[in-house]
Amino acid sequence: PPPRAHAAHAAIALGSNLGDRHATLESAVRALALVPGVEVRRVSPFIETDPVGPGAQGAYLNGAAVLLTTRSPRDLLRCMQRIEIAHGRDRATTERWGPRTLDLDLILYADRQTEEPGLTLPHPEFRGRLFVLEPLGAIAPEMVDPGTGHTLARLLDDLRRAEERPRASGPGA
Ligand code: ATP
Ligand code: CA
Ligand code: CA
Repeated sequence: PPPRAHAAHAAIALGSNLGDRHATLESAVRALALVPGVEVRRVSPFIETDPVGPGAQGAYLNGAAVLLTTRSPRDLLRCMQRIEIAHGRDRATTERWGPRTLDLDLILYADRQTEEPGLTLPHPEFRGRLFVLEPLGAIAPEMVDPGTGHTLARLLDDLRRAEERPRASGPGA
């Protein structure tokens, strides 16, 4: 049954750059929907993005989803990590930002702000990542980032402008 009482909206980011990326992301969304206490409310289209990180690696397929959940943030993240492992993610040997079959990040959990070992909310890097804000902004433009008080639509707009602006190379540039 869908969660109702004390349910929170959560925004998550999905990424894959190894194997059948599209099948992996589709399967991850299905797995999330099967978690008791999790209802998948919206899923973005998946977009191809350039890899950020060490060495040569394949392009990423990225997406986002909005959940309604009665699980705590930490508990939800544990479920997400189990789904990563079930899709071939190997935490022992894969370097940070290296290639991986599946990466699930918890971007927002209601208006929760926390910084504890293993869990930072909102996700500390998401405001500077088009590969997160584009899919997430497409499905949840009205969601508010408690860190800045800005909507995702506004954060996406700001980041697009920042990325478009030519790099200044001196006065008048
Ligand atoms: P990044 O976090 O910059 O996107 P990454 O996804 O490659 O990098 P991982 O190796 O997947 O990093 O995760 C590193 C650690 O980040 C995990 O052990 C996890 O506990 C921690 N972490 C802290 N906050 C979050 C969050 N909001 N969502 C996902 N993981 C988080
Ligand atoms: Ca990540
Ligand atoms: Ca991650």
